[in-house]
Amino acid sequence: MSAQIDVMLSEDQIQERIKGLASEIRKDFGNEEIILLCILKGSYIFCADLMRALGSPCQVEFLRAESYGDATETSGEVKLHYHFTKSLAGKNVILVEDIVDTGTTLKFIMESMKNKEQPKTLKLASLLSKPSRRVHETQIDYLGFEIEDKFVIGYGLDYAQNYRELPYIGVYQGDAN
Ligand code: 5GP
Repeated sequence: MSAQIDVMLSEDQIQERIKGLASEIRKDFGNEEIILLCILKGSYIFCADLMRALGSPCQVEFLRAESYGDATETSGEVKLHYHFTKSLAGKNVILVEDIVDTGTTLKFIMESMKNKEQPKTLKLASLLSKPSRRVHETQIDYLGFEIEDKFVIGYGLDYAQNYRELPYIGVYQGDAN
């Protein structure tokens, strides 16, 4: 069985944009320490590349958000699982997300972070955004690409837990015969 996948953003386009995002972030924070809060699972590859592009001083913590099962539509319910090794209070925190769709996941995470952790600054970096799908207004401080309303996979994004390993972002068109 092989899937039909149309390339939307190539590996080179993604890597080039990440360098741009890293310089935008460094321009804002200078040499201050930044904690990247990687939202699992979809953003782990983006987060790793962004961290290497940023250079030190930079640390990483993890948060797992469950909003989709194996389906391509949101369930509207978000469960958060924290994996912090230290408090983020008083720190410069950048949430690192793979894609902002309806904005439901980010609304939950932002509210929870502000209430529980009280970081010094809380910003959002997202590789992708589908503005046409937005339900909750979401301020994306560092955005990779705006895309149209297509279900995308690759570069950390999955379909039923598969295709995360692809180095590009593609549109999943189903299984080829
Ligand atoms: P939201 O809560 O903004 O509706 O959805 C955000 C989450 O839904 C993302 O972190 C991602 O896990 C998932 N998601 C939204 N759109 C897509 C998509 O096109 N492809 C994949 N693989 N996941 C998506």
